[in-house]
Amino acid sequence: MSVSTPERAAAIGLDVGGTKIEATLFSDAMTALASRRRPTPSSSYADLLAALEEEVSWLRQQAGPVALPVGIGVPGVVDPESGVSLCANLVANGEALARDLATRVTGTVVMANDCKCFTLSEANGGAGRNHARVFGLILGTGIGGGLCQDGQLVLGHNGLPGEIGHYGLPAQLMIQHDLPLVQCGCGRMGCTETLISGTGMARLFQALTGNTRSAPEIAATPADPDNARVLEVWTALAADLIHAIQLHIDPDCIVLGGGLSNIDGLEIRLGKALERAALPFVRPPAILKPEFGDSSGGRGAALLALQAEERVSA
Ligand SMILES: [Zn+2]
Repeated sequence: MSVSTPERAAAIGLDVGGTKIEATLFSDAMTALASRRRPTPSSSYADLLAALEEEVSWLRQQAGPVALPVGIGVPGVVDPESGVSLCANLVANGEALARDLATRVTGTVVMANDCKCFTLSEANGGAGRNHARVFGLILGTGIGGGLCQDGQLVLGHNGLPGEIGHYGLPAQLMIQHDLPLVQCGCGRMGCTETLISGTGMARLFQALTGNTRSAPEIAATPADPDNARVLEVWTALAADLIHAIQLHIDPDCIVLGGGLSNIDGLEIRLGKALERAALPFVRPPAILKPEFGDSSGGRGAALLALQAEERVSA
């Protein structure tokens, strides 16, 4: 693919998932100028680094070549101090991927959790652009999130803000609906992720009906009586999670992401359920669908790289 002019190539975004890498060249106006995908190497950390180096070289050739800044989004927690990531689904677990890639390519290389890249993207030119405090809430295979204040990510002491999949499930709803306490991948019992993720929705179906149905099947026919019941309980749990996010973070806008955010009218369902879950006197956040969806990971990673360069040159 060739670069279309006159927009100037400005940054590279690498969206590194458990199964695929999407490498994209962005202009200064955040238009995707060139992009390609490849499977994520799972053989070794060295192979993963080599693949990322190839993608950076290829995109820089498309651009000039010039040493454009590189941003990486990964499915894991990234320590903002050491750069080390906890990524169960990548061979980069425990490694400082951005630092190691920077030794192989020149220029700026930065990295963040993919949910945080999503949030940064939606807060800058996306659905949350008119809001000061944007929370990106990812409802997908896992539950994650990120916080942006005035267009900048809040990374905290450990890169944790937004790791809301590991809040505890609300006791009153667990008892009311006789829901199961399930062990989470993090080792704790009863994290929200265990019942609110895509897998969690299927688990909820099993618990409430005694039968088996996947999240896409439930979402495809929401009027089916069993699906309607499961979606109602699921929505109440998700709204309670938003209530917890309000208490801790109090965003004025929540942008939904992940596969479950495609459920028809989900933002309206959640808004109504939040009226019941939230404290009575608070103003609700705007609950919005994303503008960039799946491409927000790479776009946000590139924005992260651009912001890092601005800080260096300021
Ligand atoms: Zn957990």
